[in-house]
Amino acid sequence: MMNIIDFHTHRQNAADAIISVNPWQFDPQPGLWYSVGFHPWYNVDTLTDSDFTQLEQCARHEQVLAIGETGMDSLKGAALDIQAKVFERHLYIAATVAKPVVVHSVRTAQNILSVRRHAGLTSVTLAIHGMRANSHVARTLLDAGCYLSYGVRFNPDALSSTPLDRLLIETDDSDATIDEVATQIAQVLHLSPNEVKSISAANTATLLRTHHSTANK
Ligand SMILES: [Zn+2]
Repeated sequence: MMNIIDFHTHRQNAADAIISVNPWQFDPQPGLWYSVGFHPWYNVDTLTDSDFTQLEQCARHEQVLAIGETGMDSLKGAALDIQAKVFERHLYIAATVAKPVVVHSVRTAQNILSVRRHAGLTSVTLAIHGMRANSHVARTLLDAGCYLSYGVRFNPDALSSTPLDRLLIETDDSDATIDEVATQIAQVLHLSPNEVKSISAANTATLLRTHHSTANK
């Protein structure tokens, strides 16, 4: 039974987690789950059509639950128009395979949403990982149907204003365990760490299921 608590991690052997890899790293191990994509910090301006073909092949794999991480970063990586094109290609692949997208977004919430809108792909669900933005940005993302995934660093107001049915938790590339992340988030939300872990697992299951059924309509 799938019980994914840690929505996004770069630890390659993590159980109960979605392990983020790029297509060249993808080497699925029994019982583990993955997301596959090109991180915007990677040299995304050098990607070729065959790289995206390889991405799409990985994306179809049954142990791949989501596409990403991909997205846009205004502080790092290639020019934003190139990042936007690469992100858009991930969205098309996500729509094709009916899976949600794990999004890295640094000061690019509007860009992310406008790329999705202009591509006509608002049916593709976005989960914003490493959510550190303020509650105003959180509102914008929530109104667009996004899920928000919180790790060790976050804005407490944004976290408090996130409905519990859109909340995910993650370890990302931190040294913290998912229990430590859950404890930190639980304190802000006045919940127990176990409640936070259950919420993240339930929301991940809903996100994957709902997305699959709506995208297939
Ligand atoms: Zn990450």
